[in-house]
Amino acid sequence: MTEQKQLIDPFGREITYLRMSVTDRCNFRCVYCMAEDMTFLPKQKLLCYEELVQIAQIFTELGVKKIRLTGGEPLVRQDIIKLTSGLGKLSGLDHLAITTNGSLLKKLARPLYESGVRNLNISLDTLDNKQFHQVTRTGKLKKVLEGISAAKRVGFESIKLNAVILKGQNDHQVTPLMDFVLENELDISFIEEMPLGQISSHDRAETFCSSEEVKEIIKQNYQLIPSTVNTGGPARYFSIAGTSTSKVGFISPHSNNFCGSCNRIRLTAEGQLLLCLGNEDALDLRALIRRYPNQPQVLKEQIIHAIQKKPKEHHFDNSGNVYILRFMNMTGG
Ligand code: SAM
Ligand code: SF4
Repeated sequence: MTEQKQLIDPFGREITYLRMSVTDRCNFRCVYCMAEDMTFLPKQKLLCYEELVQIAQIFTELGVKKIRLTGGEPLVRQDIIKLTSGLGKLSGLDHLAITTNGSLLKKLARPLYESGVRNLNISLDTLDNKQFHQVTRTGKLKKVLEGISAAKRVGFESIKLNAVILKGQNDHQVTPLMDFVLENELDISFIEEMPLGQISSHDRAETFCSSEEVKEIIKQNYQLIPSTVNTGGPARYFSIAGTSTSKVGFISPHSNNFCGSCNRIRLTAEGQLLLCLGNEDALDLRALIRRYPNQPQVLKEQIIHAIQKKPKEHHFDNSGNVYILRFMNMTGG
């Protein structure tokens, strides 16, 4: 029985991309993502290895082609390589990707690649040592740079940096980050901050920096050429005149609503299936898989039903208001 293409929402969008948060924990405390003092989930509330692989298999049987592991910091999970190896073997999965803060890549880049991961997103907001420590509260820039070098040596199909730009804080790092990705033949996406979780480190309305403002900074040194590249994600891509090695993307949840082509859903570390990043509607897959451990058909039916509730679009604005109480580390960025 073919079960492909069963995940089509009421707006005709086919869901082919699942982002799985495999832990809410992290070795950093980035100011836009977490509060300084966080309480993390007890272990039994997280999905275990077997549950994650079973759920991933169900989704691939329903037509999902791409899975990205995220968190929290996915690489702090003890069984991460066992997990990527399990997922790497799923038939029907074309792309296995990870979003990481890069701090543990020096050791893990090769095992990740060998287990089947082909695409890496590495978050890096500044190349200034002192500022890196301020933004991440606990991180060391040197470790991330070593992680990026290790990943480059391994030969991933793509390595993209993610940079959240805050006005008056790290907007002066846009040009150094551009220089860095060109020198290292990497891609980069600049991200507008999203109002997820209540934070006290800064006023989001004051630090909001739109993608258009970031583009203006880049244009002082580089010529951006609109590109037809579409990775199926929310980023709009540009190439840079005179080079062919790096793509520059802009993820603009405020200024450029990307919902029309949304092909993704998210699984939180607690096993809640979120239909939209900017919406609280969820299906409790942890409860279902624990209640019906050997009945994938029950989960499939519930998932197909839930997709019918995927909202048309999110409703963020840049007033600094918090619409979603979940922090990004819970949601899986
Ligand atoms: N720890 C990993 C990392 O930092 O790449 C993966 C999880 S992190 C939540 C995923 C992405 O979400 C990162 O690129 C981070 O910069 C971004 N992010 C976190 N909080 C955000 C927010 N409030 N607005 C926009 N992006 C955010
Ligand atoms: Fe951790 Fe990533 Fe959130 Fe930073 S953005 S605190 S690295 S989960």
